[in-house]
Amino acid sequence: MSSIRQNLQAVHEAIALSAARYGRNPTEIALLAVSKTFGPEQVLEAWKAGQRAFGENYLQEGVEKIAAVQSLLVAEPGYSLDPSDRINWHFIGPIQSNKTRPIAEHFSWVHSVDRAKIATRLSEQRPADLPPLQICLQVNISRERSKSGVLAEDLLELALHTTQQSNLELRGLMCVPEATLDDQAQRRAFAELAVLLVNLGERLPQYAKQLDTLSMGMSGDLDAAVAEGSTMLRIGSAIFGKRQYAV
Ligand SMILES: *Cc1c(COP(=O)(O)O)cnc(C)c1O
Repeated sequence: MSSIRQNLQAVHEAIALSAARYGRNPTEIALLAVSKTFGPEQVLEAWKAGQRAFGENYLQEGVEKIAAVQSLLVAEPGYSLDPSDRINWHFIGPIQSNKTRPIAEHFSWVHSVDRAKIATRLSEQRPADLPPLQICLQVNISRERSKSGVLAEDLLELALHTTQQSNLELRGLMCVPEATLDDQAQRRAFAELAVLLVNLGERLPQYAKQLDTLSMGMSGDLDAAVAEGSTMLRIGSAIFGKRQYAV
């Protein structure tokens, strides 16, 4: 068995354990495999093990990988055009406003929208033959100067703006809290994001149903994220191994 397959299995087991511990249904917790810095061959390994959603942080790297993985996939004996075989690509990295077009063209989700201009441009540049881009707003939950993300007090305005963009569908919130090994501190940050999503649903009742996504939790804080209601874990190193360069 490949180590990526084994790692994926271990991550699914960890999710099931945490879900049981906190009385949650594990089928409500999606797994996004963060493949940044890893190559198309490794993505294919994960695909063969059943993984279908992948996250990328860097635009150039991501767009090249999407094309490379697609040519590997069509050569796979097991690959069909069935939607259940297809990969969903999620963009999870910082966004420069002059680089939105390739994101709008190549990805099905964007987790890192943190200002109105980015939302406007992604909607304008979304090709007409593709379904609406699925959007999470990134919140700077730990209020770090160096981090991207909208501040909690500016979230409602950005959410309203996003719902007004015809080619975007607002799905929820994402955060990357300040790194800490303290489980209670991890949980506090995630709990804050969960409260923000509930509040948003109350302020925008016509969108409450589609606001179903809490993109939170990485390899080091999976358990805390599940405890506080994560519906999408973004897991990189626990699946693909240690990255060669720090990001
Ligand atoms: C790299 C990255 C991840 C995955 O981190 P791991 O610790 O490798 O699981 C998740 N989310 C974002 C935004 C990232 O940049």
